[in-house]
Amino acid sequence: LSEENQSILSAHEWLQKLYHHLLRFTKDGKEGYQYLIDRGIKQETIDLFQLGFAPNVKDFTAEFLEKKGFHQQVLVKAGLLSLRDDDTVADRFRGRVIFPIRNHLGKTVAFGGRAIAGQEPKYLNSPESDLFQKGKLLYNFDQAKKHIRSSGEAILLEGYMDVIAAFQAGVKNVIATLGTSLTENQAKLLRRYVDTVVVCYDSDNAGTEAAYKAANLLRQVGCKVKVARMEDGMDPDDYIKAYGANAFTDKVIKASDTYMSFYMRYMKKDYNLNLEGDRINYLEIVLKQLAVIDNAVEREYYVKELSREYGLTMDTLNQEILKIRQNMG
Ligand code: ATP
Ligand code: MN
Ligand code: MN
Ligand code: MN
Repeated sequence: LSEENQSILSAHEWLQKLYHHLLRFTKDGKEGYQYLIDRGIKQETIDLFQLGFAPNVKDFTAEFLEKKGFHQQVLVKAGLLSLRDDDTVADRFRGRVIFPIRNHLGKTVAFGGRAIAGQEPKYLNSPESDLFQKGKLLYNFDQAKKHIRSSGEAILLEGYMDVIAAFQAGVKNVIATLGTSLTENQAKLLRRYVDTVVVCYDSDNAGTEAAYKAANLLRQVGCKVKVARMEDGMDPDDYIKAYGANAFTDKVIKASDTYMSFYMRYMKKDYNLNLEGDRINYLEIVLKQLAVIDNAVEREYYVKELSREYGLTMDTLNQEILKIRQNMG
């Protein structure tokens, strides 16, 4: 590690402590503390995730770190301070609840900050650097790893708050990307630890689209994929708050769809199934997807379902699948 990167890590360590201390024990951080408590986050969870608060002061961080002897230039490079037009520096995170982002070794390499007074953007992350490449890290991976291993399953969520709410509720094999789509790098990282990944993204259009992409990527790297479903508009944090941890485990995670079921439902959006032509086109793409499944029992299961739903004999569907499989070689 270069001397500069050492220094950046050390600055993050100091700041994490400072922000956490402010949130837990001082008047300056009270609003951050209250915000989390109001959202149902317990004190022990705040401590476990080392959540903090960056006060809405222009140079709070700058002054603190300068007194500790850090070079301004390095702090700017690390994205903890931003350089302004008049060459003075200002804190990057102001008036935000702070989520330390740790790498797989447990070292804090970046922060995410959530606005608590309606500032934009709602979430602000540290910029990318040598030490922080969003596409290579997963939020909470360091804490989730052993639970992922022991359960044989990883649960991929969208946001920091989802991970924290689930973890607090006892569902500990949870990780999230850092405000971007899942990358191949992250998918491969997960593959090294588990066979099965449950994708449980927000139940809105953006979340469903993202879930489809993430699911495909995970399959490409050899994971078995399941996709969870919640009522419209909810995310795991909302769901756990509304219905509790047991409902989340039993009715969402355990009840998650196989990739094939998810695919069949998801693809319906592109077709008007009241029209004969669309129905046939839809069936064609579904059969193509079905043909890829090697397990005959599993195939049969969906064939039966399609047969029932679209009034075609299982024979016809099976013949078509056989044809597709033969063409695949
Ligand atoms: P909350 O419950 O606090 O409103 P959330 O976790 O449900 O937040 P979403 O809006 O669903 O947040 O977004 C999911 C994740 O995407 C966030 O945790 C964050 O990592 C990222 N994100 C959301 N909005 C932004 C943004 N404006 N800029 C950067 N990243 C964002
Ligand atoms: Mn969302
Ligand atoms: Mn959300
Ligand atoms: Mn949310």
